[in-house]
Amino acid sequence: MDTPTAPKAGAMLHLRGNTLSEGDPVALPLTQSSMYHLPGDWSGGPSYGRADNATWEHLEHVLAYLEDAPVLAYPSGMAAISASLFACVKAGSRILIPSDGYYVTRRLSERFLAQLGVEVDQRPSASFAEGGFAGYDVVFAETPSNPGLELCDLRAVSQEVHAAGGILIVDNTTMTPLGQRPLELGADVVVASDTKAPGGHSDVLMGHLATRNPDILQAAREWRQFGGGIPGPQEAWLAHRGLETLELRFDRMCNTAEILAERLAAHPKVGEVRYPGLPQDPAHALAKRQMARFGFLISLTLDSAEQADAFINGCPLLRAATSFGGVHSSAERRARWGDDVAPGFVRLSVGTEPVEELWSAIAASLDALDS
Ligand SMILES: *Cc1c(COP(=O)(O)O)cnc(C)c1O
Repeated sequence: MDTPTAPKAGAMLHLRGNTLSEGDPVALPLTQSSMYHLPGDWSGGPSYGRADNATWEHLEHVLAYLEDAPVLAYPSGMAAISASLFACVKAGSRILIPSDGYYVTRRLSERFLAQLGVEVDQRPSASFAEGGFAGYDVVFAETPSNPGLELCDLRAVSQEVHAAGGILIVDNTTMTPLGQRPLELGADVVVASDTKAPGGHSDVLMGHLATRNPDILQAAREWRQFGGGIPGPQEAWLAHRGLETLELRFDRMCNTAEILAERLAAHPKVGEVRYPGLPQDPAHALAKRQMARFGFLISLTLDSAEQADAFINGCPLLRAATSFGGVHSSAERRARWGDDVAPGFVRLSVGTEPVEELWSAIAASLDALDS
């Protein structure tokens, strides 16, 4: 059966093709120019490379098609997240961010927003709505959270945030627009790191912001243009190339993760496994309601940091690396970055290797651990 967004993924591949004239290149041209030919008065076209670039505009066009909303591209996920926050806060604002989400969002908020007079509060994703949202101008959610894979109920949260007069921003990196649609669930702004599954080949950093709110869109565009943090044309080209196979890769990765999560949960050397697709996962009922797929990230806890390292480094089909979403399966022991997780906690990013070949390698590495 097609995943809910799969028909769009087919049309996405032909978005540009259906506009071509005879002799136009089928592949996206790379516009590598800081200057544009501008004789006489400016009439509104491309003016300068910090404001306009045809390659990143096409990447935005494709992402906008997937998000069903206007999109701005940024040179990294953090650049998109900064744009979303700086577009929405002012001195005196109160914001709420997850205590267990991507750690750089917390560091950015504590390091730079707090000194501008923004009050920053944190809450765990699993109990994000507890305490309500009264008094918050901006609520920033991440679900499933990285790395703990905790979920929060986006429909319920967005209703409460809006009732309290706030704006909801959702980091959708772990799911991509194919796996979860926060704007449909009520979010005002979606941000994502396209460095992960959309790029998919671990060779480019990119990010985007999607919103149907024209004021936020304008502010986020000006933040990029005046702040100067713009995507490079070559990087935008690579991200666009990655997007063309996102549906194919994401489908394989999610299917494989569903199978691996079951087997990992049953393996005697593995302690707790978190995967939203497991029927026994505490977030499974919510995952079924709000996600189109269960994703390609699995967390598993082994007995110790040593066991976690031995598992990762002993498996020839796992890259020991931070970041996730690439064609190569990868894994890392998150405690090495100070995440609030058990020493033997491993975040596994399932890649596109054939499922039985990957499972054989993972099982062999687990079986080889000392009991
Ligand atoms: C990786 C990541 C980011 C940051 O993205 P970069 O492209 O590395 O800047 C933000 N949020 C989440 C959930 C991430 O996993």
